[in-house]
Amino acid sequence: MRNICVIGTGYVGLVTGVCFADLGNRVVCVDIDSQKVETLIAGKSTIYEPGLEELLVRNVHSGRLSFTTSYAVGLEEAEFAFITVDTPMGPDGSADLRSVEAAAHSIGEVLSHPLIIVDKSTVPVGTGDVVSQIVSSHVGDTPFSIVSNPEFLREGSAVSDFFNPDRIVLGSTDREAAERVAELHAPLNTKVIITDLRTAEMIKYASNAFLATRISFINEIAQICERLGADVKEVARGMGADKRIGPHFLEAGVGYGGSCFPKDVLALFHMAASAGCHPQLLQAVMDINRDARRAFVEKVHTLLGDLHDKIIGVLGLSFKPNTDDMREAPSVEVITALKSLGANIKAYDPVAMDRASDLLPWVTFCATPYDVAKEADALLIITEWNEFKQLNWEKLRQFMRQPVVVDGRNIYDPQEIAACGFTYWGVGRGTAPATYSEAKQEPR
Ligand code: NAD
Repeated sequence: MRNICVIGTGYVGLVTGVCFADLGNRVVCVDIDSQKVETLIAGKSTIYEPGLEELLVRNVHSGRLSFTTSYAVGLEEAEFAFITVDTPMGPDGSADLRSVEAAAHSIGEVLSHPLIIVDKSTVPVGTGDVVSQIVSSHVGDTPFSIVSNPEFLREGSAVSDFFNPDRIVLGSTDREAAERVAELHAPLNTKVIITDLRTAEMIKYASNAFLATRISFINEIAQICERLGADVKEVARGMGADKRIGPHFLEAGVGYGGSCFPKDVLALFHMAASAGCHPQLLQAVMDINRDARRAFVEKVHTLLGDLHDKIIGVLGLSFKPNTDDMREAPSVEVITALKSLGANIKAYDPVAMDRASDLLPWVTFCATPYDVAKEADALLIITEWNEFKQLNWEKLRQFMRQPVVVDGRNIYDPQEIAACGFTYWGVGRGTAPATYSEAKQEPR
């Protein structure tokens, strides 16, 4: 059993704290947001993440997990302090490090015993040295080490990802400190890669930029498929069967969003440009992603014509399924663009409507997909929640003013939906929307 302090209880920090406690460690989580801390003390999760609240309650009851706003309390017995605070996009696109720097100052102000500081926040290369300088400026002779431990969990399966990681990456100038952090992960029985501080920081950006590149690559292929009459879903299936390529992150659609890819690709772009490089590929990845949303909105416009007084129903708001995270969600950009073209928007999401209502207060939020469909001129799929995969299309069609479906995640078979009486348009699936009359001629 180790004593761990986790600083910042957002998506990464809360999962890290809860899961380390579940592995038998004593964990104190510190956050400056007192309301969040009160909610967590009451045993309620502040985010939607499958399996998290159950583990939270179990570990709070066992006495291994606690929450506080006080750094002094959090660090009192800590051998390790994980920094998991936010590093949002700054006004110029570079990473905003104010929370990381504030956390480093707060650690330094109360530290009076040896500590291993583990940075899990995604930070530009060189930030470990900055954290070290800040802490040093406060602590005098008290020894401490800095280890970079980039986080790779995916929202929506974060608990499972914590317990089954593909690898643990650790970077430090202090090998012994890195090995002690590796020991914390021993129960996970996974590959541990120990490298230097700057390389570990870079591994995180390179990984996210590569995944975003795959998404933009397949979105570019989708555009070409639409011109040439090929089906990008089948293309991706054919490509993904090649072991050198693999099937992941090859789903064409409205593009990537969320709290990581957009900001991390942009931050890497800035890092590269400031270092005198010319990051052309990263620029293209971002441009294609922006164009994916525009092309989707354009399809709705093409199908419905003038959007003034049209009612558009949106299914799915969170940036991906199984999370309530709305940060950089494609839905926000698409809905805002449609509204500016005169449309009225109704929407449904299984868990993200509370958060979405802050960002999109003029949207009418509905209790079910069928309420969204009532009087709608088109139904748009923006997030591929499982519950949208088994809708009653007959019922939806009866409710709608016009039977039009624009599928931004390619979750349906175009001919099957068309055969139910709809005009259906996915992404990268032939030169034109699938229609009822066409589907009648070609029963499947
Ligand atoms: P978040 O915004 O959900 O949570 C950050 C938390 O830190 C908040 O609760 C905030 O109140 C707290 N905080 C801010 N300043 C603080 C301070 N000085 N002291 C104590 N607490 C403070 O952020 P997140 O999504 O958990 O991301 C955290 C980091 O992990 C980011 O760098 C992000 O890029 C990275 N990351 C996120 C994910 C993800 O899926 N969300 C995955 C991998 C890596």
